[in-house]
Amino acid sequence: MFNRALTGVQLKPWLKSKYLVQSVSFPVRSFCNSQIKYSNKGDESDKPLSNAVPDFQSELFEETRCPPLTKPLKPFLHPIKRSFDYLGITGRNNPQTHNNLYFPRHCDIVIIGGGIMGCSIAYWLKQRGHDNGLRVIVVERDPNYTRASTVLSVGGLRQQFSLPENIQMSLFGAEFLRNAKRLLSGENLEGPDVQFHPYGYLFLATQKGADQLIENHKLQTSLGAKIKLFSPYKLKEKFPWINTDGVELASFGQENEGWFDPWALLNGFRNKAIELGVEFVKADTVGFETEDTLVHSKPGVGESCNYNKLKRIHVRLTNGEVRTIDFSLCVMAAGAQSGEVSKLAGIGIGTGLLRKALPVEPRKRYVYCFHAPDGPGLDCPLTVDTTGSYFRREGLGGHYIAGKSPTANEEPGIANLDVDYTFFDQQVWPEIAQRVPGFENIKLKSAWSGYYDYNTFDQNAVIGSHPYHGNLMFATGFSGHGIQHAPAVGKAIMELVVDGRFIDIDLKRFGFDRILTNHPVFEQNIV
Ligand SMILES: Cc1cc2nc3c(=O)[nH]c(=O)nc-3n(C[C@H](O)[C@H](O)[C@H](O)COP(=O)(O)OP(=O)(O)OC[C@H]3O[C@@H](n4cnc5c(N)ncnc54)[C@H](O)[C@@H]3O)c2cc1C
Repeated sequence: MFNRALTGVQLKPWLKSKYLVQSVSFPVRSFCNSQIKYSNKGDESDKPLSNAVPDFQSELFEETRCPPLTKPLKPFLHPIKRSFDYLGITGRNNPQTHNNLYFPRHCDIVIIGGGIMGCSIAYWLKQRGHDNGLRVIVVERDPNYTRASTVLSVGGLRQQFSLPENIQMSLFGAEFLRNAKRLLSGENLEGPDVQFHPYGYLFLATQKGADQLIENHKLQTSLGAKIKLFSPYKLKEKFPWINTDGVELASFGQENEGWFDPWALLNGFRNKAIELGVEFVKADTVGFETEDTLVHSKPGVGESCNYNKLKRIHVRLTNGEVRTIDFSLCVMAAGAQSGEVSKLAGIGIGTGLLRKALPVEPRKRYVYCFHAPDGPGLDCPLTVDTTGSYFRREGLGGHYIAGKSPTANEEPGIANLDVDYTFFDQQVWPEIAQRVPGFENIKLKSAWSGYYDYNTFDQNAVIGSHPYHGNLMFATGFSGHGIQHAPAVGKAIMELVVDGRFIDIDLKRFGFDRILTNHPVFEQNIV
């Protein structure tokens, strides 16, 4: 019954794919933001209008087959709960009551991952018209967030990106943070103090990188960001502690840039979401089930056929039991694990539109904390050196943090979160000490590491529906800049769900379609 292959055998294979792209979206049409354009006129013009690379086109026209997913499981209903249901007693809206008795069996929207993305999306969905009746469930396997990127990040906010979407999302994030205490407060809920430190970002460029900096600056300022360019002379005047050797140009954010406490923002979103009625379930998502859905024929296209629509997730509780939750729409916000979890829905292991995997994987990044009595002091922005090493002040009392993204050949293993101290000694320290002579005298105090939710395709977010699984949306792949974009992404997903399109910021270019059609949208300013 479940996972049966498509039955429209009379259709040409490529036509079947096209037919599905058009048709599968009907149950959730308003959620789709597909950019792949198809024409309905005649045989020739049935080919796609996109100018995708031929290889990828042939994949697109291959018949889409969803491989067999998790074996169906009967929904569990506790006998006492059955009696309570009969009497009309419910434990809904109280996450504390998600035990054997009150485990939720169905919802409108299930969000996989309760990090900053999942919590922001949940908040925005329920915030839109307080009691909009949507039942939203967040499935989070580790409510202590021990390995979540959110709590292991350095909480930076900047407008210095090279893509308009990223700049606009950061501007939105800055405005949201300014009002977070008020927006995330409630009757009996105090809003978070996100402790924003408005000390800016400082990007340094060599002669080779100066043109890109100028181009970025034009775009950033045209969108309302307050970024200023500095010659080496002016740079030294503003920050006397810096060595300007090798610096051709610098850009400095004068407003809306700095860093904040990601843990406080996460809790703010989470607590407010709970107050608005979002339910949190502590469980690991371990599978998806589909149901055969009949796609009705259209004149001139082909016969009716079935498609495997995602129907429910399987979650493993801490006691090892596996339960199911039925949903209308699922949002993938599992951070660095999103690529792996998406495979459970057949993405990357099927054929046709399901052949391409979600290219999001964990990449380990180290953050080193040190004491430097002769360092820059209070007026120290998050500085990104020409070498790629970065540093910023951490609290008061002469403490700083620093790090660097390794080159492709140096990528460390991801099996654990152990820190490599030689990376600091051999790479980071020499580079930052060259830039700030005051960093020659330091004492390394501590270090941690976390996983970037790294998009190997173009280091940018993937936002919106999957072209085949129209009721699966992505909000992942932020590659090191997700914290600051969480408020904007949460709102964007809410707009897709409620309004059927992006309203505030047009994020269509970040859709999954670009992966299928091989159209990367590169962000130049990845730190
Ligand atoms: C060292 C470092 C520095 C960073 N610095 C910055 C910065 O300065 N500015 C910035 O904007 N961003 C920064 N980032 C990036 C930012 O932290 C991430 O982009 C952001 O936190 C992603 O949020 P998320 O909710 O998608 O992921 P996460 O916070 O990782 O949350 C995902 C959640 O999903 C859960 N999950 C995973 N799989 C499952 C499953 N199968 N079932 C149930 N739950 C599951 C996990 O337990 C996790 O809690 C940094 C990241 C790192 C590692």
